[in-house]
Amino acid sequence: MEKVEKADIKSMTLKELQDWLGQQGEPAFRGKQLFSWIHEKFVSSFDEMTNLPKTMREKLMGSTIWTVHQPLQVLTSQLDQTKKFLFGLQDGNVIESVYMQYKHGNSVCISTQVGCRMGCKFCASTLEGLVRNLTAAEMLEQIYSVQRITGERISHVVLMGSGEPLDNFYHVLKFLKLISCENGLHISQRNITISTCGLVEQIRQLAAECVQCTLALSLHAPDNETRKELMPIAYRYPLQDVLDACRYYFEKTGRRITFEYSLVAGINDNKQEAVKLAHCVRGLNCHINLIPVNPIKERDYKQSDKIKIRQFKQTLETFGLQVTVRREMGRDIQGACGQLRRSFIKQQAGGN
Ligand code: SAH
Repeated sequence: MEKVEKADIKSMTLKELQDWLGQQGEPAFRGKQLFSWIHEKFVSSFDEMTNLPKTMREKLMGSTIWTVHQPLQVLTSQLDQTKKFLFGLQDGNVIESVYMQYKHGNSVCISTQVGCRMGCKFCASTLEGLVRNLTAAEMLEQIYSVQRITGERISHVVLMGSGEPLDNFYHVLKFLKLISCENGLHISQRNITISTCGLVEQIRQLAAECVQCTLALSLHAPDNETRKELMPIAYRYPLQDVLDACRYYFEKTGRRITFEYSLVAGINDNKQEAVKLAHCVRGLNCHINLIPVNPIKERDYKQSDKIKIRQFKQTLETFGLQVTVRREMGRDIQGACGQLRRSFIKQQAGGN
């Protein structure tokens, strides 16, 4: 018997859903109803879709992929109420998402891939490489699950969890369309930040899509040599090309660029690097976010001390740059990218 592929309805735009339902012989108005149950009411089962006929719900159950994440662990920080979620996917993989409360609203940091293949030296998410891309539904569902569990509305999203968003371009773009769609959660793209290690072609492609998201570029070094030491992607794309792509993104979208710079003691945190960094970003409408590196046990990178961090910030400020030092949220609950997932997998395997 021919195997019929199940439809990933949670990853479909309203138009796609309407077309698909049409092919199933359902009337067009059912599309809006179904879309609303999924993306406005965030139901976790077909049973809750009370205005759809039972026969239709049963049919949907058999013919679609129904993406709902299972919360395997929820850790709440005693320091700042940040919550870290470990979600189980249908194929047994696990991913993590982080919920943070700010004055300006509630934010979720989502994963875009299971694992990552970018190989940044200080990052726990990439230690075992890429397992697979997440679908748009699997990204959305991280936000919907957090809303269901906390009962709070999410107004901001950052694509800064495990994975390289621009290495999963198709699904990420789909996700952006769905999360900002007026028939869905309707989060303004201006409240969404995409963090990338700097995939040049994809940054340009994203700009050409005329999105309104903030681009956060993981720079981490002001010259090619130091960057190569920390980020293998620097062998592929010279710093100048990355910066040119950022300029292009700003020209196309009018959105100020954020540069992320993780400070690693003795490697990229000296005054000379701060001066070089200021020269790198000269003339670019940007903001610099300094991140004290969060040490992972697999590497012996150390966090710069407080004085060094302050000096680095001050040097940048003398060039008129806007600089913030990222507040460490949820440090007591394995805040660094990919740490919780790794320790969970090891525990399951009986390791330590
Ligand atoms: N792949 C994307 C998203 C990754 S995570 C990217 O590279 O931007 C978001 C940010 O956290 C990136 O700037 C990443 O380099 C940084 N990061 C990851 N692990 C870190 C750690 N242990 N300490 C400090 N920054 C880290």
